[in-house]
Amino acid sequence: MKAIPQALLRDYTTFQLGGPCRLLMNCETPEELQKAVKSLSKDKTHFILIGSGSNLVISDNGLKAAVIRYVSTAPLIERDGNDVVVAASTILDDLVLYCVDESLEGLNYATGIPGTVGGAVVGNAGAWGKQVGDVLKSAVILDKKGNLKEVKNSYFGFQYRHSRLKETNDIISSVRFTLKAGDPVALAQKRAEILKIRAEKHPDLKTEPCAGSFFRNIEPTSKAGKRQAAGWFLEQAGAKDLRVGGAYIFKKHANIIIKGPRCTSKDVYDLHLKMIEIVKDKFSLQLNREVRFVGPFHSAETKKEEFW
Ligand SMILES: Cc1cc2nc3c(=O)[nH]c(=O)nc-3n(C[C@H](O)[C@H](O)[C@H](O)COP(=O)(O)OP(=O)(O)OC[C@H]3O[C@@H](n4cnc5c(N)ncnc54)[C@H](O)[C@@H]3O)c2cc1C
Repeated sequence: MKAIPQALLRDYTTFQLGGPCRLLMNCETPEELQKAVKSLSKDKTHFILIGSGSNLVISDNGLKAAVIRYVSTAPLIERDGNDVVVAASTILDDLVLYCVDESLEGLNYATGIPGTVGGAVVGNAGAWGKQVGDVLKSAVILDKKGNLKEVKNSYFGFQYRHSRLKETNDIISSVRFTLKAGDPVALAQKRAEILKIRAEKHPDLKTEPCAGSFFRNIEPTSKAGKRQAAGWFLEQAGAKDLRVGGAYIFKKHANIIIKGPRCTSKDVYDLHLKMIEIVKDKFSLQLNREVRFVGPFHSAETKKEEFW
């Protein structure tokens, strides 16, 4: 386990934004994770946990709290029949690739989604109408004191891009997924197709840092309805012309904010408020964030501060 005092969080998020934190503890394995949680809890040090930071905007002022970063450099996966048991620190796409190699079907749609397995479970990450909660059987979670507990799928209360862990802040140590035997050639072909589509549609994180879709898609108003893309409403409302400081909208998708030169987290915060405002004005519709702001944010317009 590597601990770095005053680590700059911009180095640990895909948006490449965020000031220093009190202490960053890099944990790769379930054992390191439990040790770090127990030690911070014993010292009564307030901490938050992050994965790859692909769904976060961290304040320019940084955090008074410590941060546990639970990301493994190599996949930590075991096969058990058609189940896979994986450390939540494993990169989700590494798990998807493992499943292709092992001819296991059930997670292939998640090809190319950035982030860790832990982050994916908390946000019930997905694409093409499927999400990780569909194949999660059970998980080992930790409370903030480091006590372990095994929980079943029902514990998570999975909904569209949501699990109850967003409220409980339990920490996911490892996950068991139940998959099906699949055809390795078909899985590999589909994976290649998805990677191609994602490369065409999504920004290149090296040149256009971002946190993916900023707002959740719009829930249907009746059971017969379909969820509607937030990007469509944003585009119609003229979001692509908006800009605040160094933060601007991705030219191919109005629901993605890009960090341009000299962009601050505050720019992103203020731009997202403008996006909410124009959609409200044009459609009387309230957009809800998918991306999470972490740390103090202060808007000149709303005079409101937000914390995790
Ligand atoms: C270019 C791009 C494309 C994207 N495409 C998609 C997509 O197609 N579909 C989709 O669903 N998402 C997508 N995303 C969003 C992002 O990839 C997911 O939200 C991802 O699952 C976040 O994982 P992470 O490890 O980066 O989590 P982080 O951003 O680090 O954290 C997100 C939340 O999860 C919590 N968390 C992380 N790990 C754990 C853990 N082990 N235990 C408990 N809590 C934890 C954090 O506390 C935080 O609340 C995209 C993002 C980008 C940048």
